[in-house]
Amino acid sequence: MHRFIIVGGGAGGLELATRLGDKFGSADGKRAARARVTLIDRNSTHIWKPLLHEVAAGSLDPFSQELPYAAQARWHGFEYQQGDLLGIDRTARRVTLGPLLDDEAGELVPQRDLEYDTLIVAIGSTTAFFGVQGAQENSLALDTVDQAELFRKRLIAACIRADYRAPEPSTASTDAGVKQPRIQVAIVGGGATGVELSAELRNTAQVLHAYGLHKLDPKHDVGIVLIEAGPRILPALPERVSTATAELLQKLGVQLMTSETVAEVSRDSIRTASGKTIAADLTVWAAGIRAPGVLSTLDGLTTNRLGQLIVRGTLQTEIDDNIFALGDCAACAWPGGEKEGRNVPPRAQAAHQQASFLLKSLERRLEDKPLPDYTYRDFGSLVSLGHFSAVGSLMGGLIGGNMLIEGLFARFMYQSLYRMHIAALHGWARMALDTVAHWLRRSTAPRVKLH
Ligand SMILES: Cc1cc2nc3c(=O)[nH]c(=O)nc-3n(C[C@H](O)[C@H](O)[C@H](O)COP(=O)(O)OP(=O)(O)OC[C@H]3O[C@@H](n4cnc5c(N)ncnc54)[C@H](O)[C@@H]3O)c2cc1C
Repeated sequence: MHRFIIVGGGAGGLELATRLGDKFGSADGKRAARARVTLIDRNSTHIWKPLLHEVAAGSLDPFSQELPYAAQARWHGFEYQQGDLLGIDRTARRVTLGPLLDDEAGELVPQRDLEYDTLIVAIGSTTAFFGVQGAQENSLALDTVDQAELFRKRLIAACIRADYRAPEPSTASTDAGVKQPRIQVAIVGGGATGVELSAELRNTAQVLHAYGLHKLDPKHDVGIVLIEAGPRILPALPERVSTATAELLQKLGVQLMTSETVAEVSRDSIRTASGKTIAADLTVWAAGIRAPGVLSTLDGLTTNRLGQLIVRGTLQTEIDDNIFALGDCAACAWPGGEKEGRNVPPRAQAAHQQASFLLKSLERRLEDKPLPDYTYRDFGSLVSLGHFSAVGSLMGGLIGGNMLIEGLFARFMYQSLYRMHIAALHGWARMALDTVAHWLRRSTAPRVKLH
């Protein structure tokens, strides 16, 4: 039986494992399996990464959205192994997984090897600090649930402290008579993650004020500054989306600093290359991504300057037909893209498309048929501004180009991205149930996770 191994159960990898398992596995035991599908992930549960800024702001409880890989494997006819990808032996067609440790670093399962006929690497990306002094040590990234939860806890602690210490509603002022924030959150990177987090945090401040921190003025005592090196926020999106978003953020009281490159991050401040010092009680680094370092150690597989595996149009790696890569960790050319020489962007939309593409393509591989080339279809980009709004652009033949959307419709479209992911994992009926359950939970749970 053909052995498929998928490493990385994220936006792309878990969708692929689920649908390959449905197609070739034997979840119900009623039919014989046509292939053996194994998913490997370092974690035991999956969460859709674009939700992490909501986790960081406390507006989403991650434990309500996590999906245990072992259960998903049981329901969809694939196998699951927990472990960290350590290496590949391409000749022996083997992947090596690191040992599985418990909370006290005791070994639960030792280092082990698994054999494959086809390997699909989907281990995503990680934050790039670009060697900026102090950035890694003094700021938080949003790559994992643990990091997002750590940020949330620190933010709530800072707000409680500031509220307790203030005898009266804040009267502190600058020389010009403008109130100085008691807590300042600095977000480095004006891309989608930074923008979404800044809007979400404004909502958090309002809710915390309503939930008992009455001395904290949510707009003026919690300062949010978004620092972007380029001349405008959302540099990868059309200019009018960027302008509309900047106006909305300014209305929410988010301070925008563009054309400012961060040169150093310390415990309580940020220094820019132009010589400015910005106070920062909490710093979030959302200024760029790179692929996990392990990819450049994989038995000669070629990587680009971001450390992504270079793949051909078929999503097979440059030098090995048996190894495919998808999602953020793959460098896949985008010939029709806005800029010549650009690769498919690192987005959930691309990971989802590539998983659907590989589902068909891997079936052809089993039948020894030639493999087609993947073409990225850009349906536009949407940026959530929390419960306030969403903004973005829709692209496509139907609307004849690129259309700016904002408000409730944009918010609905943004939320439907996640609903599509849930539908790919559980089917449309369960997705509908999940949506209702989510609304019901929201009506009985606090608007911000406090504990
Ligand atoms: C805060 C935030 C907001 C975002 N918002 C949007 C958005 O609105 N729209 C959008 O399109 N995109 C958004 N993105 C980007 C989007 O999340 C990624 O493009 C997408 O998740 C990539 O999917 P993937 O399958 O390649 O990787 P991931 O979803 O990152 O999954 C990678 C998986 O690999 C596992 N893994 C990693 N290393 C190893 C290893 N060595 N061994 C074993 N397992 C490993 C991880 O545990 C994870 O489960 C956002 C990202 C962030 C951080």
